[in-house]
This record gives sequence, structure tokens and C-alpha cells, in this order.
Amino acid sequence: MSHTHLEDFYTFEGHFTFDLHDLAAIVLRERQQSVDPFKRARVVEICEGDTTATCLPPHAQTMWTSMKAPHKTAYFLKTEADLDDAANLQGPLEVADFFDPEMKLSPGHAPLTDKEKEMVYWKIRHHDGGILICEALQQVLDALPEDRTRLRIRTSQGLEIPQSPIDAFGIGNVAVIPRESTYICDYQHIKPLSTQVGMNQYLSGHTSEPQPVVYLLFGDSSIPAGGLVALDLASPSLGMRGLGGESFALERVVDYHKRVLPNGGKRVIDYDDSRSEEYDGFFLTDRIRNFSRPELEPIVNDLAERVIRRLSRIARGEETFCAYCGKVDAKDRCSKCKTSMYCGRACQTSAWKYHKKWCVLDAK
Ligand SMILES: [Zn+2]
Ligand SMILES: [Zn+2]
Repeated sequence: MSHTHLEDFYTFEGHFTFDLHDLAAIVLRERQQSVDPFKRARVVEICEGDTTATCLPPHAQTMWTSMKAPHKTAYFLKTEADLDDAANLQGPLEVADFFDPEMKLSPGHAPLTDKEKEMVYWKIRHHDGGILICEALQQVLDALPEDRTRLRIRTSQGLEIPQSPIDAFGIGNVAVIPRESTYICDYQHIKPLSTQVGMNQYLSGHTSEPQPVVYLLFGDSSIPAGGLVALDLASPSLGMRGLGGESFALERVVDYHKRVLPNGGKRVIDYDDSRSEEYDGFFLTDRIRNFSRPELEPIVNDLAERVIRRLSRIARGEETFCAYCGKVDAKDRCSKCKTSMYCGRACQTSAWKYHKKWCVLDAK
């Protein structure tokens, strides 16, 4: 597989340092904007535990009701054709629009907060996406010119690597037992007024089986775990978020394993890969080697190209971005450091838990 064409989209001649935290936000924003089975669907009902959904006849819920797991949640989505306002939908849905105004929850469940909505949104979008976005970011890092590009890596816990080479990254593999099982059902009624339904069903995080987690590793791999930083872009898929409250995790490997991953990141299966090296409970390779899903390749390529084009515009000073959600054209500047920009109050508030660690330093 050759991706040399990607380099052509990076049309910036000078030197530039990208902040890895910002880069993660931009990758997720572009993922939101790119091709996906849930791009034009909306959550109409969320069921927990033993409850059945009211939006579908019981016989259409056998997969959900027969699932055996101590903690399980089902998300029922209507696809575009079935939505009342389908004709008015423009482009991919933002997090707030992803939930039907009439959405039903299990009896007694409090309405979802904005933070919970954000997590559910990414949990559904990432249901098969961990390796996909990892592969896309790997392509992006490969395409940036290594002699003119550096990464600044800052974790929510205060570790900073100011000048990491762009090509010094690896891929981490671990498999853990998730805390909760997720069932996603994307349905449409075949005929109006009939009980016939067409549906796509997805299961993830089955709590009786180890779930592979793939992430990128930065820093100096000659120093065991302490000098390495993990970037997990799909953490909500297993119900996790970054220690700075982000919908991704960027932490020292030890923090990521002990405080983000379920079960303290205890490894539960061994990868049979003689090319992998083992470090303190995870396996490290230099590339994603088992990306063998040709149907996802156009999605990966599209995502990588979108990100490269944006990085190019950012490096040329033509575009601003929100340091929380990655949106284009952020207008609000942090009044303290005058450096980080946000698309609005909500993102600035959400970003603060992470940003407060670095705001003072940037203000100097
Ligand atoms: Zn934002
Ligand atoms: Zn600031």
C-alpha cells in the first residue's frame, strides 16, 4: 500500500511544531465529518440492563435481550430515511443533533448531560473505529516532512515532551476486559405501519471476551514505560475518556494503563507476533500490520487526507481551530494565555481541566 500522494497535500515549506493534543482533536473532528454508517442517523432510544426498547417490536430485539452481560447498554438509531426532518439534514450531524428530541431512556434514567451525549456519540461512531483512526494518524505522521516537523506532546498530568521527532512513534497493543457491553441497532421500517424492520446490529465490548485496544505510542521507546506517552483516539468505545476530560486519551503509558484502561490495563491475551516487543504489559510494534479490511481503506485514506489538508492550512496561518473539538474557525481566544482558541464557551469550559495545566506556562 503506497500513500505517497498524501505528502502532496501538505503544502507548507517552513518548519512547524504541531501539538499532539490539538492534532488529536483535529483528527476526531475530521472523523466526524467523514464517511461513516452513522453519519445520517439519530439515537431514538437508549436501554440499560434488562429493559426492552419501545421503538421496535419485541421479536426484533432478540439479539439485545439475549445478550448476557452484567453491564450492558443498547442504542437504537433511526437512519436518515426514517427521520421526520430527513430533508432538512445538512452534512454530518453534530453531537447535539445526534439525539432525537423525543429520545427515550430506561425508566427512571435522568436526561443525558452534554458530556454524556459526547461520550455516547463517540462510543457509537468508534464502535469499529479504533484501528481505523490509528491507521489514519499513522499515515498523517508518515506524510509530514520529518526534517521540518516536530511534535509537542503534553499530557493532562503535566508531562511535556517539547520537541518529539514526527517519525518517532510506535503502535501499542493490549487486550482488556471492558467494563460494559454495547449493542447498537441502526434500523429502518421496511413498510410503514408494518412490524417488519431492516436493521444493522453491532456488538462491542462484550464483557466476557478480551477486547483489543490499539493506540499510538510516542516518546523514547528505549526508556521502558515511564518515558512513553499513549494516544488512544477511540477511548469512548470502551467507555473511557482522557484524564483531562477529553474524548480521547493522551497520557503517559503508566497513567493510561493504570487509570484509563479497565482492570488497571491488565493484559489478558498475548499477541502471537514475533515482531512485537513486550514492555510492561503491552506489546509494541512499529506499524499497524494487520490492517486487513479493504472496505475501510477508502475511509482511512479520506480521513488522512482531510487531516493533512487542515494541518497544511494551520501551518500556513490560514486557519484557526478549536483546541477542544477541532472545529475550523475558532474565534474565542483564552484570555489568560492568549494562545489557545475555542469555538465557544462550551468547548472552553470542557477544555479547561486539561488546559489549566498549560495555560500559565503559555501565558509567560
Ligand atoms: Zn469547539
Ligand atoms: Zn489559556
